[in-house]
Amino acid sequence: MPDNEAPVANYRAGLVAVLGRPNVGKSTLVNALVGAKVSIVSPRAQTTRHRLLGIASFPAGQIMLVDTPGLHQQESRAINRYLNRAARGALEGVHAAIHMVEAGRWVSDDDLAQRVLVEAGVPHVLVINKIDQIKDKQALLPFIAEHAQGKSYAAVHLLSALKRKGLEPLVNELLALLPESEPHYGEDEITDRSERFLAAELIREQLMLRLGEEVPYSATVAIESFQEDGQLLRIAAVIWVEREGQKAIVVGKGGEAAKQIGRAARENMERLFGRKVFLELWCRVREGWADDANALRQFGYE
Ligand code: GDP
Ligand code: MG
Repeated sequence: MPDNEAPVANYRAGLVAVLGRPNVGKSTLVNALVGAKVSIVSPRAQTTRHRLLGIASFPAGQIMLVDTPGLHQQESRAINRYLNRAARGALEGVHAAIHMVEAGRWVSDDDLAQRVLVEAGVPHVLVINKIDQIKDKQALLPFIAEHAQGKSYAAVHLLSALKRKGLEPLVNELLALLPESEPHYGEDEITDRSERFLAAELIREQLMLRLGEEVPYSATVAIESFQEDGQLLRIAAVIWVEREGQKAIVVGKGGEAAKQIGRAARENMERLFGRKVFLELWCRVREGWADDANALRQFGYE
């Protein structure tokens, strides 16, 4: 903490895991709390593959958010097994957890997440997200009665991460669950992830947003070089796909798709890093990488 600021009495700081099915809005909430884009968001399931810490600082405390990958009951492919292990691993040593669900939709994977939290012995809060999609809020009462009341939750919060409605009571609730502590990070630090990692995530986000159903799940991004050149960042990245046909989709007619992916990712990098970015982007094929443990390690899924 900078020395010119007086310490706040009862300041709290700690780790909060964010759990829930893919697509319920976990990354959106992390970004809303942090106040910047540290976790990629897309309408597709399974966008978040890595454990990611977003740091949200408030006058009364600091919440270090662990944005977990989704839990799945089906563990068929190597990548799904990795995701489940990572979600469980993300609970080790955390002080509290958010279990996020979508308003009006409760499925068996939601029960799974709750069970994992009970087993881990971490105090957990139920967050019912996307309430902006529910016109008649009264209609949610039976949903709350069935899934929240009398369960293991320390509290229940209804909110909209997207519209940033209802965040403050959640923040206060979470802070109360954290230990008294000095801040762990400076107020302007928002992630412990490297710019290199964030650059790869921002490219992957564009693949998710722009390409058809199949390709994004078969694609990963590797940063080949990341160099500061005065005020400029020079980044070279490879999009790895599983088949030639997928490469054709990523590259697009006359290279147009790849160009758009690169341009949008570069603009987001410039916004996040506050610097000009020069991005070189290639697409290459490596068959079956998502089902190959060695390839997963090489691409950073440890
Ligand atoms: P995650 O997979 O749980 O991390 O979910 P994301 O944060 O990536 O969000 C998945 C989709 O839900 C995106 O299209 C978001 O814009 C959308 N979304 C997230 N929060 C809300 C919300 O409060 N209301 C609405 N209507 N959509 C939301
Ligand atoms: Mg996510």
